[in-house]
Amino acid sequence: MPQLTQTPDAADFAHVREWVFDLDNTLYPHRINLFEQIDRNMTRFVSELLQVDAVEARKLQKQYYLDHGTTLQGLMIHHHVDPNAFLERAHAIDYSPLLPHPELGEAIKALPGRKFIFTNGSVPHAEATARALGILDHFDDIFDIVAAGYVPKPAGETYDKFAALNRVDTSRAAMFEDLPRNLKAPKERGMRTVLIVPNNLGDAVLDRWEQVSDADDHIDYMTEDLERFLRSVIGRL
Ligand SMILES: [Mg+2]
Repeated sequence: MPQLTQTPDAADFAHVREWVFDLDNTLYPHRINLFEQIDRNMTRFVSELLQVDAVEARKLQKQYYLDHGTTLQGLMIHHHVDPNAFLERAHAIDYSPLLPHPELGEAIKALPGRKFIFTNGSVPHAEATARALGILDHFDDIFDIVAAGYVPKPAGETYDKFAALNRVDTSRAAMFEDLPRNLKAPKERGMRTVLIVPNNLGDAVLDRWEQVSDADDHIDYMTEDLERFLRSVIGRL
């Protein structure tokens, strides 16, 4: 098991000049649960597309997620869905649960080098989210599912695409993510890997594929508090 800490050894990150952040449940807490809204929108989309009831739509949605990494990828493969229409519908959500997090913004800003958002969502969704958090200006670029050619994390080719497009030296990069499986490819490419876990784990309803196991030796650190973790990295606790 990786060690759970809010105060990592800054020396472990001294070489890092490329900071790569997942978006959902990483840059804001799991309990905000924006995904619940996205999830509902996706179910509705599948239900209307395939003319099935919500229970059947949900089953398919989750199956595609498991089989292909995203519901969208499954829908594109099996039903030739227009990805833009799907992404727009999925992310038509209320962003008001997100509050500005200036301390997180300051910590991200103070990290030496470039900062990226790397998401299986869309650029408009990432921008709206980061803007609501008040941290959008601190990122150099956003790599989304469209840039990934709709091949989602955890596919290795998508990390390679991200790194090539942005000329990221992965041996000098760190990746922050809330899904353990999405840290495997970055670790294989020499990146420092940090798993963000909910600080109310007991209450959180975690899907079974989101749980950490003993086999997760590709995770260097686990933390419940990204802001504090980054402040430790930059020596400003
Ligand atoms: Mg996430």
